[in-house]
Parts: sequence; C-alpha cells; structure tokens
Amino acid sequence: MAIASINPTTGETLKTFTALSAAQIEEKLQLAAVTFRAYRQTPFTERARMMTRAAEILETEKQAFGETMTTEMGKPIKAAISEAEKCAWVCRYYAENAPQHLTDQIVETNAQKSYVHFQPLGPVLAVMPWNFPFWQVFRFAAPALMAGNVGLLKHASNVPQCALAIEDIFTRAGFPKGAFQTLLIGSDAVEAILNDRRVAAATLTGSEPAGRSVAAAAGKQIKKTVLELGGSDPFIVMPSANLEEAVTTAVKARTINNGQSCIAAKRFIVAADIYDDFVKRFVSEMRALKIGDPMEESTDIGPLATPQIVNDLHEQVKKAVASGARVLTGGKKIDRPGNFFEPTVLVDIDLVAPVSCEEIFGPVAMLFRVSNIDEAIHVANATPFGLGSAAWTNDAGEQQRFIEELEAGSVFINGMVASDPRLPFGGVKHSGYGRELAEFGIREFTNIKTVWINGITQTDTE
Ligand code: NAP
Repeated sequence: MAIASINPTTGETLKTFTALSAAQIEEKLQLAAVTFRAYRQTPFTERARMMTRAAEILETEKQAFGETMTTEMGKPIKAAISEAEKCAWVCRYYAENAPQHLTDQIVETNAQKSYVHFQPLGPVLAVMPWNFPFWQVFRFAAPALMAGNVGLLKHASNVPQCALAIEDIFTRAGFPKGAFQTLLIGSDAVEAILNDRRVAAATLTGSEPAGRSVAAAAGKQIKKTVLELGGSDPFIVMPSANLEEAVTTAVKARTINNGQSCIAAKRFIVAADIYDDFVKRFVSEMRALKIGDPMEESTDIGPLATPQIVNDLHEQVKKAVASGARVLTGGKKIDRPGNFFEPTVLVDIDLVAPVSCEEIFGPVAMLFRVSNIDEAIHVANATPFGLGSAAWTNDAGEQQRFIEELEAGSVFINGMVASDPRLPFGGVKHSGYGRELAEFGIREFTNIKTVWINGITQTDTE
C-alpha cells in the first residue's frame, strides 16, 4: 500500500511519501537504542513535565490537528477535535499517575525486604490503524514514554501526515531526539524490525489478520506483544430499558467515526416485546443522520476512509441479503464523489451466516430479535470477537447476568462502550490480549521485577 494522504471526501491525492530505506530504518533503530539508555534514567518529574507540555500543544492546536485527521481519513471535524482533546487527557493522566502506578510494591515474605519493581523494556514498536489516528497512538505512547520506554511508530499508510504531526508534538514537548520516532514504512517492513534485537516489544491495534502476523513474528523472537484487534460488539436492549435513550445511544454507538470504530456497537439484540418499536425508532433515526462534508460542523456521517472499505462493506451487505437478510434502509454506496455509504439497517439475519458475527466496519447495523435473556446472551457471545459489550436493562438481576456472562473485555450497562484513561481497555477471544490505559496499560511494557533481599545492614535500612 502506497504511503499517501488521499482525501476520502474528494478522492484527491494530497501528498505521497517514499518509504524509508533499510539504511534509514537502521539509523532510527540505532537512535532509539541509544536514546533509551539515557532516557530510562530520567526522573518521573522530568518525563511528566514533557508529557504535560505535549498535552498543552494538543489543546492549543486541536483545530489544526483535527483538520489533519479529517482530511486524511474523513471523520467529522467535531469528533476529530475531541480526539485531540482526549489525547491531551491521556497525556495528563499519565503525567500525574505514572509515578503511583509504577511505584515499588512492598510484599511481606520471609526476606528482610521484598518488593515488586517496575522497569522499562526498551524501544517498543507500535503498529497503528487509521481510524482514531491520534488517539490510538497517544494511548500507547503516553504510558510507554512515562514508563521510560521509547516508541517507534509504524502508522497506517493512509495517515502519514497524522504520524508526522505526532512525532513533532513529542519533539516540541521536549522529549529527547529518538524518544518517539515515526517510521514511514509499509507493513512489509514490520517483520524485519520485530526481528531486530534492539526492539524489545510490540503493540498492534488493527485487524485480526494483522494481529496474527505481528504476534507470530514477535512470538518467534519471544517478544512481548499487546494486541487490540477487531470487534463485533453486541448492544442488548431488554424490556425494562429506557427505550428512547437506548435507541438514540444505539444509533450513536453504531455510527460514531462513520461506523469505523472497533468498539462501535455492531449487533443490536433486542427483546421481542419491544423489538418492533425499537426497529421503527432506530430506522427513523438512522434515516435522519446528516451525511456530508466532514469539515462541516453539522455533519453526522462523513466518507469512509478508503474506496476499499466501501467495497468491502457493500460485499458484506450483499452477502447478508443473499443469506436471507432484509434491508430496511440504505444498503449501497452513495452516488457522489468520495467514499460515502448509506446508513444501513439489516434485519432477519441468519445466525448461521458468517456475516452475522463478522466485524462490519461502516454505518451498517444488524438487528436481532430474541425471546429472553438466555437467548440474548447466546446471540451476543456467538462471535469470535470479545471486545466491548453494552446491555440496556433496569433489572438488577439481568444486569448482574450480563456482567458475569458476556464474553468481552468490557460491559457497559445502560451506556455506550467508550475508552477512558482511568479504566483498562482491551479484549478477549479474537479481539486480542493485553490491556491499554489505567495502571494495567502502563505495566504492559515493563519488566515486573521481583526484588528479594536478605542481609540488609543497618546502614542500608536507614
Ligand atoms: P489493519 O489493516 O490491520 O492495519 C492496522 C495497521 O497494521 C496498519 O499500520 C497496517 O499497515 C498494519 N498492518 C496490516 N497488515 C500487517 C501485517 N501483515 N504485518 C504488519 N503490519 C500490518 O487495520 P485498519 O484497517 O487500519 O484498522 C481497522 C481495524 O482495526 C479494525 O479491525 C478495527 O476493529 C481494529 N481496531 C481495533 C481497536 C482496538 O482497540 N481493539 C482500535 C481501533 C481499530 P498498512 O496501513 O501499511 O497496511
């Protein structure tokens, strides 16, 4: 895939980039290794000062960063600006909390003193997707750098200007040269980097095939990986739920980021008693969404990131229809320049058809009718993925069952799945492993070292 910024609203190629040569990659890996040796010694206060400065840059220039995101991948400008603000939040969160997350933990044993000590691992390669082109990178980089690691970013090939802007933010924030580097490379260059002894670990946010490939290559070298992969999140609505609120949240949860979010609700599983009412309201709200230029503040849905995504989405809709599904609204590409697809609602989907549990990356919702909570849980779990899940019910017993029985990295009751720096984020099953955010995320790329000491002299303990 060429490394290029192509505006998905117009199809215009804005800028193309030449991939780094082997010699240029070597130079950057060497710089990362050398920088790490010094950077790991910097005190938390110094790292926090630079991370806070990164947050300030994000806040001050959020409009410009938002425009770069929208121009490269098509998300509505309001959402893009909020994304820059959220990146500032994660920078501040780790600037303030990293010291306590990584402080030594004393454990009473038969030693005179024993404790758990957290140390950075080294240069970490981050392979990142285009859909939240700033957020995905910052939620890796803020904890990784605060822990004393250095970062190497291989961003998606369609968002090179976002990738370069992020490197520039860390440079301007005062991080030493080599603490965070963007590598403009294709996915074919990733394996050699993972094989390089100077690279300590890797994290990948992206599709299941990309995750398998990176995990296999890193596995051969016995290197730690964190994988944040796809999802087919269920959104369950039971009779006791506030239907109006559930429908409005459901539409938002399906269409946020033009429907291209890993934690977007993708399968709506609705109790039979309220199903017809839910469908009527849901279709009406999907039809009312404003589709258009993502640079306009009033736009709800902009273009999908690439023509390939539009084609893949259309194929999935056709497959669903071929296996018996009905299209209640939408169903095809919009006849205008750019990668626009109609907000679409599918019903009567055959649960045996593979498309019923695949990840659908675009504004296409699948609605399922269920007769009781057992069936709701069964349908919700009938997917290889396990990222997020949402359940709407005001019945305490039902809430507890969803919390216990949904196979997912998170359960949101009467709400919409969202990431938050204070809470861990990640999946189970084919959605990946490891966690980002909170104290769990910052510890992923550390050596959790056991320290056991006997023979402490008086002077040592003073
Ligand atoms: P993608 O095609 O897997 O690409 C993600 C990144 O992986 C890109 O940098 C890509 O580089 C690289 N890549 C692809 N194949 C690779 C390989 N074989 N070896 C090494 N690197 C490889 O995914 P995407 O289309 O950008 O993003 C959408 C997917 O990401 C969806 O499945 C979505 O659910 C998932 N996602 C998950 C989360 C989460 O937190 N769980 C968050 C956001 C997105 P190129 O661009 O150069 O191909």
